Amino acid sequence: MNLEETLRDHHLKVTKGRLQVLKLMEEAEGPMKADEVYDSIPRSICSSLSTVYRILNQLSEKGILKSTMYQNGIMYYSYNNGQHRHYIVCSECGRVAALENCPMDAIDNYIRKDTGFDITGHVFELTGICPNCKHK
Ligand SMILES: [Zn+2]
Ligand SMILES: [Zn+2]
Repeated sequence: MNLEETLRDHHLKVTKGRLQVLKLMEEAEGPMKADEVYDSIPRSICSSLSTVYRILNQLSEKGILKSTMYQNGIMYYSYNNGQHRHYIVCSECGRVAALENCPMDAIDNYIRKDTGFDITGHVFELTGICPNCKHK
């Protein structure tokens, strides 16, 4: 399904701004902050940060994007491809990197045995200092 269809499927009008944001998020390696999204979009397509916020919120409401508030109080947006991913956030610059694997699987098993619960979800967030900030 292309991005235009994705928008129409969610009853959103196809606009240049929405398409551009969606394309960017689909290609992004990890979650992005609204100001990063704004900086990556030509001013001719999206002229203000508030427009970017509005688009990000619309796409999140429809479930096309995932929005997550991290411990640093900043909202991050990512393309919702149904994948289960965990991220580490730099506490200095806010950069985000994805973890290759879910480190919780083994713990889930242990907790299932211990509590008898079937675990249906978890949130796991790491905070650290990224290589760039470490060398400053
Ligand atoms: Zn950093
Ligand atoms: Zn996980």
